[in-house]
Amino acid sequence: MNDPTKLSLVVPVFNEEEAIGFFQAQVNETFIHHPEIQLEIIFINDGSTDSTLEKLIALQKSDSRIVIVDLSRNFGKEAALTAGIQIASGEIVVPIDVDLQDPPEVIFAMIAKWRDGYEVVLGYRQNRDSDSTMKRITANWFYRINNKISDTPLTPNVGDFRLMDRKVVEALNQLPESSRFMKGLFAWVGFKTTHVNYTRPQRIAGKTKFNGWKLWNFAIEGITSFSTSPLRIWTYLGIIVSLISFFWAFRIIIRVVILGIDLPGYASIMVAVIFLGGLQLIGIGVLGEYLGRTYLESKRRPIYLIRQVYQGPVK
Ligand code: UDP
Ligand code: MG
Repeated sequence: MNDPTKLSLVVPVFNEEEAIGFFQAQVNETFIHHPEIQLEIIFINDGSTDSTLEKLIALQKSDSRIVIVDLSRNFGKEAALTAGIQIASGEIVVPIDVDLQDPPEVIFAMIAKWRDGYEVVLGYRQNRDSDSTMKRITANWFYRINNKISDTPLTPNVGDFRLMDRKVVEALNQLPESSRFMKGLFAWVGFKTTHVNYTRPQRIAGKTKFNGWKLWNFAIEGITSFSTSPLRIWTYLGIIVSLISFFWAFRIIIRVVILGIDLPGYASIMVAVIFLGGLQLIGIGVLGEYLGRTYLESKRRPIYLIRQVYQGPVK
């Protein structure tokens, strides 16, 4: 028989003391009859304030496949995923939620596609019944706007749950930016991609960590990380205002010359105010464009800080 395929599960956890037990049991049950797959389970404790870390350490005592990366505080799911993917040593890597909303058995279908030669296999949510109507509508809008203005189109109804070949993981690990909108980065690196369908169940235990406000900010982060169009709008606005003011100025001047009825000074002041206003908008737009680019690249802070790694290979 061939050597087993090494699979790394990357599991970000934030206050998930209730869900971890269910997750581990489900993973065990799913993979127990699959000796062709050698598992590595990387939990990233993203600054949990409940007993998540203690639960993980207890689990690890009886399961040497578990690696725990304890971050110094809550850095957010994107940073936690980045940490996990950087530490993962598998030939294939699968980010997966701990709440069993990404069913582990779907991974076999993904692996089958991977064996067919695909480097990325997306988990495509066939329905979003487990999401609220509000979340579905706003998600839909987000994808529409994003895919209109961004150079990196995102596939709707695809989350972070996906299989990635080592090549893809290496590519991701090379990306230096500290604003980590993972869905965007995943899409940006490209590679030969396909998808498998799955139905997304309800969360097994605990509560969602993403409320409306967090999702709103997440959407803004997504759009601004991959597009500078929002800044460019001001440039266009400036051009339009300048053009209008130019024609209006022309009209005022003509009126003064032909009819000569305007208040003295009115024409010249209006022309100056409107035209300069337009020019200023263009200026701000151009500045904003460059400032935006610099801003994105200049924050050289690390993406996350690790307090401790419990056991397992550290690179
Ligand atoms: N998560 C995290 N850090 C955070 C928020 C969430 O590591 O700041 C993890 C969380 O523990 C879970 C996954 O990200 O494993 C998905 O979170 P959740 O189920 O709350 O999101 P939803 O499915 O509601 O979009
Ligand atoms: Mg969830």
